[in-house]
Amino acid sequence: MNSSLDVSDGSRKPIIYSRKDHTISRKQISSAALKVLYGLNDNGYRACLVGGGVRDLLLGRVPKDFDIATDAHPEKIREIFKNSRLIGRRFRLAHVRFGREIIEVATFRSSREMSRSDSDVSQEGQILRDNAYGTLEEDVWRRDFTINALYYDIRDFSVLDYVGGVSDLRQGVIKLIGKPIVRYREDPVRMLRAIRFAAKLGFTITRSTMSPIPSLVHLFNDISPARLFDETMKLFNTGHALAVYERLFEVGLFALLYPSTRRVQTSELDSHNKFVLKALRNTDHRILNGKSVNPAFLISVFLWYPMKTVYSAEVGRGNNQKDALRLASDKILREQAKILSIPRRFTQAVRDIWELQARFSNRSPRRASRLLEATKFRAAYDFLLLRSGDDRALLELVDWWTRFQSADFGERKQLFQEVKHAEKRRKK
Ligand code: ATP
Ligand code: MG
Repeated sequence: MNSSLDVSDGSRKPIIYSRKDHTISRKQISSAALKVLYGLNDNGYRACLVGGGVRDLLLGRVPKDFDIATDAHPEKIREIFKNSRLIGRRFRLAHVRFGREIIEVATFRSSREMSRSDSDVSQEGQILRDNAYGTLEEDVWRRDFTINALYYDIRDFSVLDYVGGVSDLRQGVIKLIGKPIVRYREDPVRMLRAIRFAAKLGFTITRSTMSPIPSLVHLFNDISPARLFDETMKLFNTGHALAVYERLFEVGLFALLYPSTRRVQTSELDSHNKFVLKALRNTDHRILNGKSVNPAFLISVFLWYPMKTVYSAEVGRGNNQKDALRLASDKILREQAKILSIPRRFTQAVRDIWELQARFSNRSPRRASRLLEATKFRAAYDFLLLRSGDDRALLELVDWWTRFQSADFGERKQLFQEVKHAEKRRKK
């Protein structure tokens, strides 16, 4: 590895791709992002598009959002754009709002050790506050991956590459800038980001960026559960959940994010895996087709078999089914909250989805009609569908509920008759 990549001296010369040497055109940049870039530029500040915006445009993809970096300090950005506000403590930024679009504007940071005080870095080397401002040349070195450290300069529409990012984009590799161990210690979330970008772009993580991960996973204990939750949302709800899961699993990170999955009994491991993989595939499929996903659904899937293990133990202790379900849900969600702080509206949805599973088998006219009105009926029904897999009894139940949902009054009567007959047959 090029050792000069390890120093943030800012003395390296960039490769400059002028307007005619790259494919980014202003037409591909949202008008909101352009307004911010020009607004800063007109006020005498340096303004560049950075990160995912540049990366994805160079790859011919549509960026998820546009991030901007500038030498204007947050207070100045706030002054220039009336429609902006400042956010973040660990990392102060400005959000400039145009209708529903938010443009994130970050001031160039310096990664010089000297500019950080002791209280900015934890004993493990984790950066707690990163607000030492610097120049563009310094900002490059504190970015995570080479492909994320390209700058599109609004002054002359050139792309500045200090770290070989364009070449890595061409080769399809994810490579950390600097010494991987140091960079992961500074911010362990970068391990998840490496996996997310590899999955999203179909890229390979270079050996030096990949190999330290298994030995550093313990660093996850130091990340706040709120931040980890935000990251897992991006991991599983952006259309590449299956690829992300497989990679996380390989390096032992999945079990750290969802430790309860270690509870799944050996005899159930196969079913659990099939169930999870099917759900991930469905989720990606939905997103690909522009449908919405409720993040609670996948959480309820990941934790279903672990919850069932605890549930069986509670029933074994003499609890009735309802109490056992409540105790098991409490235990599993409490365990989970130590790692990821899942907002209450999601944990409630997880509980509802689980709780409704037991209610599907009661198909008396009154109960069935009531169940149909439950707020989480649709998600619970999808969950049942997923569970049915190759279980004949569940398949029959799913089929009944599928017909029941779209049945008119007469057809419903017919369906209740069916249930009655089936019960009689079973009793004989
Ligand atoms: P996308 O928005 O498509 O998920 P992105 O690369 O734009 O990907 P963001 O989280 O929006 O990711 O961050 C914007 C840029 O900020 C990144 O490209 C990277 O240069 C820098 N960055 C973000 N998070 C980190 C981090 N944890 N460590 C170092 N640099 C980071
Ligand atoms: Mg981005």
